[in-house]
Amino acid sequence: MAKQKMPRSHRNVQPRLSDESLVACHLSLVTGRLSFDDLWTPDQPLPDGGVLRELSRRVLAAWGHAEWADGIRFGYNGRLRRCLGRAFFKEGRIDLNPRLLSANRSQVIPTLVHELAHIVAWRLFGEVNAHGLHFRALMAKAGFKGRATVRLAKREGEGGPFVRGSGSHIAT
Ligand SMILES: [Zn+2]
Repeated sequence: MAKQKMPRSHRNVQPRLSDESLVACHLSLVTGRLSFDDLWTPDQPLPDGGVLRELSRRVLAAWGHAEWADGIRFGYNGRLRRCLGRAFFKEGRIDLNPRLLSANRSQVIPTLVHELAHIVAWRLFGEVNAHGLHFRALMAKAGFKGRATVRLAKREGEGGPFVRGSGSHIAT
């Protein structure tokens, strides 16, 4: 007799809308896209670690934790292939993909915000579901979409969609 598969509905339980609204209220929903133009714009070369920290401080301030910017390590990791960025939320580290981001600099800030939201969702709420309710509420509060994938212009030998992070959000 064939082994019975678990029903799809049990493997991927989607949150109800009312739960999401609750989380949004908990974060005293104040949405609105933040401005970063005085710190960095996509027509400039990739921001260095110091600029990434100041960009992050602004995002973290919107979430009430500007002081956390000093405890997070930012860097470019040339070994990232299809991920734009990666958050190691337990150790407070964000790796960014220098190759994909220098070719798609409009994605630098959305990726940084995405990875920061993982770290903050973990610190504030202990959220381990990588793109869960708290993550999405934080993204909305900063004025960004919570989607985990982004379609980039195709480059030679590469196809989309590219993911902002991967299964290794959870670092050991
Ligand atoms: Zn992610």
